Parts: sequence; structure tokens; C-alpha cells
Amino acid sequence: MQQFQQYIGGAFTDGSARFQSRDPATGEVWAMMPEARAEDVNAAVKAAQDAFLDPEWAGLTASARGKLLYRLADLIAQNAPALARLETRDTGKIIRETAAQIAYVAEYYRYYAGLADKIEGSHLPIDKPDMEVWLRREPIGVVAAIVPWNSQLFLSAVKIGPALAAGCTVVLKASEEGPAPMLEFARIFDQAGFPPGVLNVITGFGADCGAVLTAHPKVDHVAFTGGPDTARQIVRNSAENLASTSLELGGKSPFIVFEDADIESAVNAQISGIFAATGQSCVAGSRLIVSNKIKAAFLARLKEKAEAIVIGAPDDMSTEVGPLCTEAQLKTAVDLVKASQDAGARVITGGAAIDRAGHYFPPTILDCSDAPTAPCLTTEFFGPVLSVLGFDTEAEALQLANDTAYGLASGVFTKDLTRAHRMIRGLRVGIVWVNTYRAVSPIAPFGGHGLSGHGREGGIEAALDYTKVKAVWLRTSDAPIPDPFVMR
Ligand code: NAD
Repeated sequence: MQQFQQYIGGAFTDGSARFQSRDPATGEVWAMMPEARAEDVNAAVKAAQDAFLDPEWAGLTASARGKLLYRLADLIAQNAPALARLETRDTGKIIRETAAQIAYVAEYYRYYAGLADKIEGSHLPIDKPDMEVWLRREPIGVVAAIVPWNSQLFLSAVKIGPALAAGCTVVLKASEEGPAPMLEFARIFDQAGFPPGVLNVITGFGADCGAVLTAHPKVDHVAFTGGPDTARQIVRNSAENLASTSLELGGKSPFIVFEDADIESAVNAQISGIFAATGQSCVAGSRLIVSNKIKAAFLARLKEKAEAIVIGAPDDMSTEVGPLCTEAQLKTAVDLVKASQDAGARVITGGAAIDRAGHYFPPTILDCSDAPTAPCLTTEFFGPVLSVLGFDTEAEALQLANDTAYGLASGVFTKDLTRAHRMIRGLRVGIVWVNTYRAVSPIAPFGGHGLSGHGREGGIEAALDYTKVKAVWLRTSDAPIPDPFVMR
């Protein structure tokens, strides 16, 4: 059985306890993980705080921080195949996706390496004589980064990259589901030459680890990706330390197809939008809103393609949909489909768990045209389940698209440029993809509003989230300060 260790202050240790990790493809225990409890969390935060204040890190120039990040990016690129195999083994995410995604993760670190010495302050044209006033952009401090199990290397890169570029130090809590890739990432990070304590990687459960970390008095910022219920707890925890928060939460993203769209292209994008990552993607286009003029033809083609998807073992390069990460995820999918059917949703394809070892659920399409209250329209599945609604007018399409408590991503398929612009303006979301879907880049900010959270990851905006502004006033006159009782 494989054993993993946590990484605190530059040292690898076992943690207060150990827990088992199961292979989602078989349900078998395959590895033992270190479980961080309060004492480990305290040690990790102390290591991060010591490193933050130590001139070995605090005294580095921004360009020197950038060089360390470039070295880390090269190491990730070299180790990408091994990291991909581990992520596939521990989370069930298919190897086709982990191999491509982790190779691209190196680009996120390269982007933030290049950005490190471009995070600038500014000079103010102040309204007082003999005064120079400028703003310094300083690192916000110790960051608690918390990630869910899906795409952990990616979701942590969009936190660790900008945080270290800005000069912060980080305690990363990997998910208790499938933490292996993050614990292995710590071994790679250790070779890059950062001072000890700049990054600490632990894993553990919500109450004993996550809650202690996010309420810790020495934590200055919490960068969280996960579900809205956990986010609420984290915001409550941050009432203890008054840490700032950035929250990347779930979605119920609309995928809107007008009658003039390129149908084959829209079908392919919808297939990728909902069935890639076995539906376990925050930006999943899980609500298809399609013009009634083409609905029947569109669904027929979609069904044909969904039924041709290769379901199989996640480590097989030909697999397109693999197992869900946990048994609990599988149960959610089964229960929500059943409840939606009870509310009048019609199964077009899929709909029941696959009878084999592991957590397999097939690509599923539910027509909700006669089921406006079906829970599949409002509840995030985090599984390969698409809900479908038809519309007659552009105004109705927009109203259905915005009829959600979430606001993360959206897709619009049309060849009509003016209509595309109207939709872009009207959609209450953080990302609009027009005639494409699920494209991401380190250069483009990513995030949402409403129940999808706040703050942005990726782009310059993310780096600024890890800074605070200090205003500096410097008097340039040698004349004595006049009347001390008059504020100037
Ligand atoms: P989750 O919220 O259950 O867990 C996320 C992390 O929070 C885990 O590491 C967990 O241990 C930790 N946690 C749990 N309780 C905690 C507490 N009280 N204090 C601090 N930390 C605690 O999420 P999940 O089920 O693992 O992941 C799926 C969710 O993540 C979905 O809602 C999905 O949409 C979302 N997600 C969002 C994005 C995005 O960028 N917007 C990306 C991926 C996933």
C-alpha cells in the first residue's frame, strides 16, 4: 500500500493520524494519507508565518520570486505524466484529461512567474504642497488555500501561483478525497529551491483541519474552492480572524443554443461542456436552453453522441467518461435523477447507475420542458447529467439563463453578432463563452457571483487579490510643521 506524507516547514512528516484513500475505479483502498489535525495546522501556519517574516523570503526581489516560480513550472512540466497518473488513480479523473491539464498547469506557474515583478504600486497627484504620496502593493500575508478533489493541481495553481508571485506564503489544504497529487506536488515543490515554509501542504477533514485553518488567528486571507455550504462555514470561520476571502464555488451554468447556431459545433461543445471531467466541473454547462425551433433535432444528435461516449477505466487512454470520485457523488446523481423524474423530467438517455464495481454513472440527459420544478434545474449535480429547457424568444432564453442562484459560466451559440452582444450584456455570470465552451487560460480571470462566490482566479486580478495597499506620505519641505491643531 502506498504511503503519503504532509509537507510543513520544508519537512515531510506523517501527520497526527492516517486515513485510507480509495481508488474510485474499483472502490478498493490503495493508499494511506496523513491526516492533519489542530496541531499540524498550527505547525503549518507557524511555518508559513515564520517564512513570511524571514528575510530569506521577505527580502527576495520580485524578480527572484519569479525565477523560483519559473523553476517550479519546469519541474511540473517534467513531472506532469507522473502527477497525471496519480491524480487519475486517486480521484478517478480520466487520464486523457489529467495528462493534458497538468501539462497546462505549468503554464499557470509560468504566467505568475512573469507577473511577479509587474505587480506595481502607483504615485498619487496629491492635493497638498510639498508632499510625495505613493501606494505600495505589499503581500497580504499568510494564505490558507483550500481545494476540492476535482482538478486539485489546477485549482491550487491558481492560488499558489499568484500568492507566491505577490510575496505571500501559503498553507494549502488538499481535499480529503484524492489528495495524492497534491502531496506528490509538495515533493516537486521542495526541489524548486524556495525557502522552507513558503508553501506547506496538508490534508485532512473539514471540522478537524479546514475549520481550524480558516479560523486561525495568523491567517490573513482564505482562498477557497468548493461548494456553497462549505463556503458559508468558511465565511463564519473568518469572523474569528477577519481574514479576507475569495470564494470559487459551484455553478448551474446555462448553455444557450439559438436556431441559427452551427449545430454540430454546438452539440460537440455541449458534450464537452457537460460530460468532460465526468460532469465534475464547476463550469459544467448543465442547463441546455435550446430554441424550440431546433430542439428535437438538437436533442436527437446530442443523444446519439452521448450514447457513443466511451465509458471505462480512468487510466485507459480511450476512456471518455470515468467513475465519479466518491460513492457519495454517485448517490447524489442517482437520487437527484429520481427526484427530477418524479417532478416530471423525461429521461432521454442514461439515468441509472451502471452495474459494475466503482462509482460509474452514465451520460444522462433529462428533458425538463414539462418539469419546471425539477431539482435537476437548480441543484448542482457534479455528475454527468444535463437538464434541458426549450425557449421561443431571445428574452425568454435570457430569463431562463438568469433564473438561478449561481452565476459562474455560460455559453451562447449563435451566428447573429448583435444578438450575441445583447446576451453577453444580459447574462449575470463571471464568464461568457460565445460559440465555444470550457476554454481557460492563465491570462483570463475566472470566477462568478451569487452562489458561485466572489474574487477572481487567473489573470492580473488574481495577483492583486493577494496584495494590500499601503499609502506612504513623505513631506519634502524642511520648513517647520505649522499649526499642529489644523489637519492638513
Ligand atoms: P466541499 O465544499 O465539500 O469541499 C471543499 C474543501 O473544503 C475540501 O478540502 C474540504 O475538506 C474543505 N472543507 C470542508 N468543510 C470545511 C470547513 N468547515 N472549513 C474549511 N474547509 C472545509 O466541495 P467538494 O464536494 O469537495 O467539491 C465540489 C464543489 O466544488 C462543487 O460545488 C464545485 O462546483 C466546486 N468547485 C468550484 C470550482 C470553481 O472554480 N468555481 C472549481 C471546482 C470545484
